Amino acid sequence: MNNQPTIRNQASCADSGKGDLLSVEAAEQRIFSLLKPLDATEYVDVRQALGRTLSLDVTSNVNVPPHTNSAMDGYAIRAEDILSDGFTSLTNIGTAFAGKPFGGRVANGQCVRIMTGAKMPDGSDTVIMQEHAEVTEDTIRIDAGNRPGQNVRQAGEDLAIGDIALTAGKRLTPADIGLLASIGRGEIGVVRRLRVAFFSTGDELRPVGTPLAEGEIYDSNRYTLYGMLKRQDVEIIDMGAVSDDRNAMSAAFNQAARVADVVLTSGGVSVGDADYVKEIVRAEGKVDFWRLAIKPGRPLAFGTLGDAVFFGLPGNPVAVMVTFYQFVQPALRYLRGETTLRPSRFRVPCASAMKKRPGRTEYQRGLLQTDADGNLQVSVTGRQGSGILSSMSTANCFIVLPENSKGVAPGDTVLVEPFEGMV
Ligand code: AMP
Ligand code: MG
Repeated sequence: MNNQPTIRNQASCADSGKGDLLSVEAAEQRIFSLLKPLDATEYVDVRQALGRTLSLDVTSNVNVPPHTNSAMDGYAIRAEDILSDGFTSLTNIGTAFAGKPFGGRVANGQCVRIMTGAKMPDGSDTVIMQEHAEVTEDTIRIDAGNRPGQNVRQAGEDLAIGDIALTAGKRLTPADIGLLASIGRGEIGVVRRLRVAFFSTGDELRPVGTPLAEGEIYDSNRYTLYGMLKRQDVEIIDMGAVSDDRNAMSAAFNQAARVADVVLTSGGVSVGDADYVKEIVRAEGKVDFWRLAIKPGRPLAFGTLGDAVFFGLPGNPVAVMVTFYQFVQPALRYLRGETTLRPSRFRVPCASAMKKRPGRTEYQRGLLQTDADGNLQVSVTGRQGSGILSSMSTANCFIVLPENSKGVAPGDTVLVEPFEGMV
C-alpha cells in the first residue's frame, strides 16, 4: 500500500472516475437545444449545388424516362406473337433510333428494329435482344424462350410526375445533381453557406515558414481545422493565431462574432494561468464551460457570442479533431438543416488490445482494413496521446469505446466511426 500524503485540490485530467463530467449525450442535447437551423435559401446552378444542402423538397414535374423505351438493341414486337413452343417469324417494317422514333404502328406478325433508348413503337410491348433473333433479309425468327414485356423501360419508372425526387436536408451528391438534370432542373435552392471564423490561441504558436525560438511550436490546429471545415463546404474565415492577451483576444472575439455564424477557437479553455478564453467569452457572451466525460478532449466551451454560435475547443491537436468531429461537425450539419448529422457507426472485430478505465467515452484512432479473406477489422494506430497527431494521420476511423467499457482484448468487437471522406 502507498501511504504517501497527496495533494488533490481539484479534479484533474488525470482522474479516472466520471465525477462531475458531462456525458457526450448530455452535451449533444445542450448543443442541439440551442441551435436554430439557418432559414436562408439561395438558388444556384445545379453543378454548383454539389456538396451543398438542399433547402426544399424537389418534386418532379416530368416522367423519367419521359417515354417507354427499349433497354436493348434488338427488335420491338407484340408479346402475343411469341408462340409458347416452336419458332415465330416476324416481318421487319422499319427502324427506331434513340431520339428518332419509328412513326408507324406494329401489327401482329411484324417487328421494328430498335436501338437502346428508342421510344417503343405504337403496338409493340416487348423487345427481343438482337443476339436472340435470327435475321434473314426482312424477316426475323425468335424462339419460345422470350417473356412478354421483357427489355422495356416504362415511362416514369425512375421518377413519375409528382414524385418527390429529393428531400430537403439532403447533402447533394454526384447522383443527386444528375437526378436533378434528369428532371430538367438547371437551378436549385440550397441553404446558404455557413460562415465559420476560427483562430488559435497561445503565446507559443508560430506560423509555418518561420523559425521556432525556444519553447515555441507551429500552429497546426489551424490547418486541421481548415481541412475539416473545407470538407464541410463552409465559408472559412481564418483569423490566425492570437496571443494569450486579454485585449488581443477580446478584439478577436468581437470581430469573429460580427462576421461569422459560428466561431471556433482552439486552446485556452483548460485551467492554466494563461487560459483566458473563459474569462473573456463569459464577459462577452453566454457560454458554458464543460468538462466532458470523453478522452481526449475533456475541456470544451459552448455557447453564443452575439448572434454567433461559439465552440471553444481544447488546444491539444488530437483533442481539437475529436471535439470537432463529435460536436462541431454535427452542429454545422444541424445548422444547415441536414437530415444526416453523423457518419454511420458499425461494429467490427478489433485486432488490438486497448486498456481503458470506465467513466469516459474514448475515441481511439483506428485503421479499418480488410484481412486476407476480405473481412473488415480495425487496429489501433500507434500511441494515443492527445498530442500525437501522427496517430490521427495514419487512422481512417475512430474506435468509440463507451463510458462503461473496461478495455478491449484482441478479437473483441468494437464500434467504429469512419472519418469523413473515408467511405
Ligand atoms: P492549452 O489548452 O492552450 O493549454 O493547450 C493545450 C496544449 O495544446 C498545449 O501543449 C499547447 O501548446 C497545444 N496547442 C494549443 N494550441 C495549439 C495549436 N494551434 N497548434 C498546436 N498545438 C497547440
Ligand atoms: Mg494555451
